[in-house]
Amino acid sequence: MAISHFPGRGGTILALVALVPAAFAQRGGGRGAAGQTVEKIKMLKPNLYEITGGGANTLIRVTNQGLIVVDTKNPPNPPTAAESDNYNRVMEEIRSVTNQPVKFVINTQHHPDHVGNNQKFIDAGAQVVALEALKTWMENDPRTKDIPGRPTVTFAKDYTLKLGDAEVRLYSFGRGHTGDDTMVYFPDSKVIMVSDQITDATPVVDFANGGSALGWTKMLDGVLSLDFEQAIPGRGEPKSRADVQAFRAKFDTLVKRASDAIKSGATKDQLASQVKTDDLGWQFQPAFFASLYDELTKAK
Ligand SMILES: [Zn+2]
Repeated sequence: MAISHFPGRGGTILALVALVPAAFAQRGGGRGAAGQTVEKIKMLKPNLYEITGGGANTLIRVTNQGLIVVDTKNPPNPPTAAESDNYNRVMEEIRSVTNQPVKFVINTQHHPDHVGNNQKFIDAGAQVVALEALKTWMENDPRTKDIPGRPTVTFAKDYTLKLGDAEVRLYSFGRGHTGDDTMVYFPDSKVIMVSDQITDATPVVDFANGGSALGWTKMLDGVLSLDFEQAIPGRGEPKSRADVQAFRAKFDTLVKRASDAIKSGATKDQLASQVKTDDLGWQFQPAFFASLYDELTKAK
């Protein structure tokens, strides 16, 4: 999510602050700002559940041999805290629907809100499955290098995880939000976890950690090549296939406009002012356009 990745995004932060009093009033006094609290578990499909809040969305696949969990929410705060509130809350919600042990954890990308409680699951006996690139970026990114819980099973590109009566397919369709995004597909329920490749807010390209604006639509093409009914974003509500197509079209428009502006002579400094994005509902910082300029001119 943009807010936690880049605290400098003034507009978003102001909007969040404005929402807090309403959220507190509604919840009768929550523990934090909207989205920071682990919410009640919800069933998406038979044997497939979602827990929102406390970081990125978490999915739980129940099998007859144990559980597969996708993404482990924000780490304990402060990092030295002995107990992770988010981990305990997630387990509390899971225990309300099943007593099966967690056998596997999958990470969709290396950001703190997706990997924050890996170690707790490892300590409880789970394996953490992720791209080799995810392990590398997690070790290099200043925001995650001190978070314990590196992946214990890594793969280079695609991976099929089988547990009991369930099969989960992991796809790397290139670089997008980061250099290690993994699309997690549940073929029997026709659900795909698309992580932060689909956003309600302005999309974030983490250029410093392998992200790519040019790769973004290619990754969504990979998603759209699969047979799914629901796409679960890193934050927010489930999306339809039409939502994913619409998002892809918007991102494609953004890149085409930037590319056209550069062809018409826009310099790196001018690009931000020459690419229209308000009709897309997105607001980028000038630094985004500087990185986009670099990527587009390198690709020539
Ligand atoms: Zn992220």
